[in-house]
Amino acid sequence: MQGSFVDEHSARLDLARTAREIWQRGLGAAGDGNLSVRVSAGRIIATPGSCHKGRLEGRDMVAVDLDGRSRGRGRPSSELQLHLAAYRQRPEIRAVIHAHPPMALALNLAGGRVSEVVVSEVIFAFGQVATAPYTTPTTSDVPETLAPYLACYDAILMERHGSITLGTTLEQAFIRLDALEHSARIASFARLMGGASQIPSPEVERLYAVAGVDSQLPYRQDASSCPPLEPGDSAQQAPLEDRLIEAVLARLRGGGR
Ligand SMILES: [Zn+2]
Repeated sequence: MQGSFVDEHSARLDLARTAREIWQRGLGAAGDGNLSVRVSAGRIIATPGSCHKGRLEGRDMVAVDLDGRSRGRGRPSSELQLHLAAYRQRPEIRAVIHAHPPMALALNLAGGRVSEVVVSEVIFAFGQVATAPYTTPTTSDVPETLAPYLACYDAILMERHGSITLGTTLEQAFIRLDALEHSARIASFARLMGGASQIPSPEVERLYAVAGVDSQLPYRQDASSCPPLEPGDSAQQAPLEDRLIEAVLARLRGGGR
């Protein structure tokens, strides 16, 4: 279902405020990342390229169409292609945030699976985060590789680069970024303290049902058509531990045969 569009003046002010918050919260260095809001079917307002995210004002934002052509003053970021790929594939999406959240990136670099659900809140915030393989930033490789992920997930971590979160509002995209970084921080600290266990599959499934995300996200409807949650996974497959639990439960349900 598609909601109404936010007016352009409000979108510009919201972008400036959210960009400042992202920088102040350390979700990227001053020049990192970019944010955008779709204000009509074919008009996107976005943060400009090469700017300090803590010092932007509404009038600094740039306007582009869905093909990335400038529709006013200013120069859009080369990374805006990533946003446009999301808008083209997901008509319901009204805001995109690309950031460089340090704990999520560090957890991935250290070999952690960012997709593992260690706290229940992530289910309610974005359902599931997928990790996409590394691509060279600012090149066309990024939107090409990310396209199938954008079709399936609302939160994606790009290896050695950053995150992308989508929302039907800018606030929702920000909350998803914040939840991604927060859960990665908890998982990272838990690993330092001896290990982070994830929530068992049956409870994760129950959380999905309670959160009501099954009807909203493509990967919940048909996971086989979506990229795997982690680059090393050959298919959309739960981790070994979960598959073993499922196998044992299935055997018990069958009367122990
Ligand atoms: Zn980036």
